[in-house]
Parts: sequence; C-alpha cells; structure tokens
Amino acid sequence: MEYKSVKIPEWVYVNALAARTDLLRRGLDAIPADVRDPRNCPRCGSKMEPLADAPAVECAAGCGYRQDSIDAAEGVGLGVLLGLGLAALLERLPNKEQARPTPAQVKARAAIAGIRRTAKARGLDKLTDEEVESEIKAARRERRPPRAKRP
Ligand SMILES: [Zn+2]
Repeated sequence: MEYKSVKIPEWVYVNALAARTDLLRRGLDAIPADVRDPRNCPRCGSKMEPLADAPAVECAAGCGYRQDSIDAAEGVGLGVLLGLGLAALLERLPNKEQARPTPAQVKARAAIAGIRRTAKARGLDKLTDEEVESEIKAARRERRPPRAKRP
C-alpha cells in the first residue's frame, strides 16, 4: 500500500484518537455495513467491485472512490478511521449521481491509471532525492511573492 502524509489540525487528531478508542471499545461490528463494506459507491451510488490485486473495493463506474477492507486483526489505524469517516460522510450526501463521472472522465482516468501502472512497472514512479529537492525548490519559488522593485 502506498501512503501520503497530511497535516491535520490538532483537534482533528485528538478527535480521531478518541473515536478510535470508542470504536475499538464497541467493536468493528458496530460500524454500519454500508460504511464498513459498501456495495454501492458512497460517492456516486454506482456498484462497487473487488480489486484483483488488493483486499479492497472500488467504484465500478470509475468515479475514483476506493475503500480497503478492514482487517480487524491488524487493528484500525487513524488513516483507516479517517477513511471510514469520509465514507460515512459521502454516504449521507444527497444527489450522489452528481459525482458520477462522464464517459470522457472514465476514459481519461483509465488512461492515467495505465500511465501510472507503466511508470511503476519501469520504476519511473520513484524520484531521486535530488529530484524531490528540485521539485520542492520549484514549488517554493512559485509560492514566493514577487519582490517589490526598489525605486
Ligand atoms: Zn463512484
């Protein structure tokens, strides 16, 4: 599994720890089935289908929603917990069909996924330390406001 780092406000972190404690006390079976193991995409309402290469399901319509299966034996990490929170939020939103991708979006996502798979297979998805540093410097340069001209 690949991971991304994210910075969250302290109150969200504290709430997540408390929610995890509550959840573990009540048991994972307390999570509603449509949130824990959705048959329909919480985002767009389409069918979910199992992935061939991971214990997870993804939206068959291609809206991009994916959810990993929860392995109670491995415990519940904060990332999994936050993912469940998002699933529960999306499940409650009305008009899910508004999130359903157009055929052109599905085609574009499939093309991007193909490019990513090819890059990963060739090892092109890994940046060297120098490339990472260069990207950071370029992003900082773009963010920096232009210097005021001296009279
Ligand atoms: Zn979907």
